[in-house]
Amino acid sequence: MKQPITTSLFSLFKVGPGPSSSHTIGPMRAGFLFFNACRGLPEDVLRQAASMRVQLFGSLSATGVGHGTDAAVLAGLLGTAPEDCPPEYLLRLARVPHEKYELDLGGKRLGVSLDDIRHDAVIHKFPYSNTLVASLLDPAGKTLFSREYYSVGGGFVTWKGAVPEAVGAPAHAYSNMNELHALVREHGLNIYEIMLDNETAITGAPRSAIIHQLNELIERMLGSVRRGLDSEGVLPGTLKVQRKARMLWQRAEELSFTDPERLLARLNACAFAAAEENAAGGVIVTAPTCGAAGVIPAIIHAMRYDLRIGDRAIREGFLAAAAVGFIAKNNASIAGAEVGCQGEIGVASAMAAAMLTDARGNRFRYTENAAEVALEHHLGITCDPVQGYVQIPCIERNAMGAVKAYNASIIATGTDPYSHRVSLDAAIAAMAETGREMSCKFKETSLGGLAVSMVEC
Ligand code: SF4
Repeated sequence: MKQPITTSLFSLFKVGPGPSSSHTIGPMRAGFLFFNACRGLPEDVLRQAASMRVQLFGSLSATGVGHGTDAAVLAGLLGTAPEDCPPEYLLRLARVPHEKYELDLGGKRLGVSLDDIRHDAVIHKFPYSNTLVASLLDPAGKTLFSREYYSVGGGFVTWKGAVPEAVGAPAHAYSNMNELHALVREHGLNIYEIMLDNETAITGAPRSAIIHQLNELIERMLGSVRRGLDSEGVLPGTLKVQRKARMLWQRAEELSFTDPERLLARLNACAFAAAEENAAGGVIVTAPTCGAAGVIPAIIHAMRYDLRIGDRAIREGFLAAAAVGFIAKNNASIAGAEVGCQGEIGVASAMAAAMLTDARGNRFRYTENAAEVALEHHLGITCDPVQGYVQIPCIERNAMGAVKAYNASIIATGTDPYSHRVSLDAAIAAMAETGREMSCKFKETSLGGLAVSMVEC
């Protein structure tokens, strides 16, 4: 068996500011970690410190402006963790580019500003595309302390020389869908039971606390939909993209209850709503990333308000979605900068398809097949955000991901599950290979695809 999955549910589903998990939440976390690491330095080192510098490499350098990376790093350096980020904070920081903010390193005070965040080489030799090098400097610019951080997708961050955090061994070890299926078969457990047992074993948290936190995440996702549906106007950035969720919702509400388009129209509106909240820098839940933050909330909204599925079944389906996200992350990637948009919207759609299928009481095989169908039909999709903003094609792509998830569930549950020929593991392997072969032009650098072919009027 490959290394078993030991990721916590609450590392996969993270609360934080949009628009990008790898370019906003990850870099913010890196800045925050560097702030804390500096606070722990010996006094004699801190005494010499005069400034800080953060260099952005790879896709972070190429599309950092559109993703709000600079402001996110600055916010982290100033001691704000993504989950504590107040609404609009990053937008406020971005508005005043040269403003110096005082940073307190425990007795030693320094001034930092957006000018200290530098965009460096797009093509580089670091082991991960999204690399940041943070340095504490003396008055002559000599490095006193430096750390190389990697934003590896979904808001996860590691650094050169990091020792993996000690976590408990999972109660039910698996590394892919085939092994998860074997656990279900052998022990007669449901996916949600395996997920809850593992979460307790890995983190030590009691089941009641995990369930409480899961319920909160689901409500936060629905909150991002509601805020998006209530908002109008133009999204931040130079593209001047108009918010469309509210209008889509109003159109959907004009349809009669028996109109077959109604559910689809509401699904589109909800996916747009959460994705627009993300694009506006609002606080969302990574699912599995910020760019794909509209797919799962749209399906949850449909499950609760259109399909009238109960909260417990939704929560259990949500845990099936988590299993799919874990397996995709463990065996390929959920970062657009690593494998293109197939790893973001594709994985989100697969997770949502699994969630819906499980929540409707279907057996494991149907759930796996639904996830596979959704992912299979996102294979090869590139990440080419225009001007680096998580707006075009990202917002519409969330709606397409939600609709495909719904359809994947219909296809999977409407056919003999044993006649399905492609496993989820095979689709994930195909995604990993396709991502490896994909030119870096199509992996969140805005150097190819729609990002360069769209003519701006
Ligand atoms: S194109 Fe897809 S992967 Fe790229 S930023 Fe947009 S949503 Fe994320």
